[in-house]
Amino acid sequence: MDPATLTLSAMAQQLHAGSLQPTTLVDACLARVAARDERLHCMTQVFADEARVRARALEADTPGGPLWGIPWVAKDILATRLGRTTCGSRMLEHFRSPYDATVVQRLEEAGAILLGKSNMDEFGMGSSTENSAFGDSRNPWDPERVPGGSSGGSAAAVAADYCGFALGTDTGGSIRQPAAFCGVVGLKPTYGRVSRYGQVAFASSLDQIGPITKCVEDAALVLQAVAGHDPRDSTSLREAVPQWGTELESVPAAPAAVRVGVPRNFVQHGVEAAVRADFAHVLDTLRAAGASIVDVEIPHARYAIAAYYIIATAEASSNLARYDGVRYTRREDASDLGELYARTRTLGFGREVKRRILLGTFVLSSGYYDAYYLRAQKVRTLLRGDFDAAFAKCDILAMPTSPTPPFRLGERTQDPLQMYLSDVFTVPANLAGLPAASIPTAVVDGLPLGVQIYAPALEESRLLHAAAWLQGLLGFERLTHRGRA
Ligand code: GLN
Repeated sequence: MDPATLTLSAMAQQLHAGSLQPTTLVDACLARVAARDERLHCMTQVFADEARVRARALEADTPGGPLWGIPWVAKDILATRLGRTTCGSRMLEHFRSPYDATVVQRLEEAGAILLGKSNMDEFGMGSSTENSAFGDSRNPWDPERVPGGSSGGSAAAVAADYCGFALGTDTGGSIRQPAAFCGVVGLKPTYGRVSRYGQVAFASSLDQIGPITKCVEDAALVLQAVAGHDPRDSTSLREAVPQWGTELESVPAAPAAVRVGVPRNFVQHGVEAAVRADFAHVLDTLRAAGASIVDVEIPHARYAIAAYYIIATAEASSNLARYDGVRYTRREDASDLGELYARTRTLGFGREVKRRILLGTFVLSSGYYDAYYLRAQKVRTLLRGDFDAAFAKCDILAMPTSPTPPFRLGERTQDPLQMYLSDVFTVPANLAGLPAASIPTAVVDGLPLGVQIYAPALEESRLLHAAAWLQGLLGFERLTHRGRA
């Protein structure tokens, strides 16, 4: 069996047993990249030589923890000293970070092997990876379709067995939606659970880094390795990091009386038939396994997309002001400072990024600030209250991850509003700071679908247990290996 197709947990088992060597595993993963990436274009860079050197160095030592010797892929928004950190943008095409992001450093210390960096929508803005300055990524299940976004390269790389796991970032769904589109697991932790130091900022009050993996147990292992307080990120939480990996070894076969909340009104509109049917099947499966399905209301969820696209663009317009042609790498010739700014930004940013900067500048401008930005912040507070009330009646919430199956390349690029609607079920978690995960449910017409679970803040344990349980009930692991072959 090709070791690249194993889950992270299975790779780790074999590495520790000595039946698999890090160098063999790295070579197997690189062979997958070589065979598939010309077509799929998930990667912006591959560090083949460096990965082999590191695998050899590890091999000379004794195996460490569960990530020891595991090849992984970083979304190209995470600062790495190795290679460039492009954010999918011409603006940073040649940018070399002088330091590693905290997550990169922690994975390095855990013995994981950085294989390369994955393609993404420019600065994380998009839901299809069609907004990358370096070309579109494709879905391994059907290369005519998008892998989702903005961490589309990361999700596709995991689905195509380039690596044991990938990291993505999620500002409004960018881990969960591509995970659903590619038939893999994606988890966005509680805001502040994982250090954002070295993650290039898109919308700082929403951004979180999280794992994209082939199964729930793998997500627990990666999250455990990267989570925890970091003095270099003032928003990172001081809460202790549970042993999620070990906890999942004892997932109860049927957790006693789980109450699964379903925001019915919210999930009724604009959901395609295949997704609706699949979601109904998931609820039936849960019910049959002993869970009780509870109707809950999230009344302000209907404003979530609007609030998100105000807050995220406002914060982006401020964060991206630093790309002025003076600092970082891109600088166009100009005769004065105004022209330098204008020319650098005109040539350095793509269309969607420009659109967001314009929107964000508008909603923050005097006269409009109260009408848009302030109101969006109020929606955010109301939404948090909705979730608090809902979690008084249930343990977890369930809803589809995306209202549609993976769509075709080009299908939505001309209609930004249509693209923004992909995020309807994912952005509420970011606005409220809650942990949420997408897990694969089924393959319908050759395309994977996903279901999403939300848990209260800091309840990643509950989220992972529920996800592992549901994964077992749905038996998706067998399907992925058939479909992705
Ligand atoms: N699709 C959303 C957007 O375009 C979310 C992106 C993200 O989570 N980085 O903003």
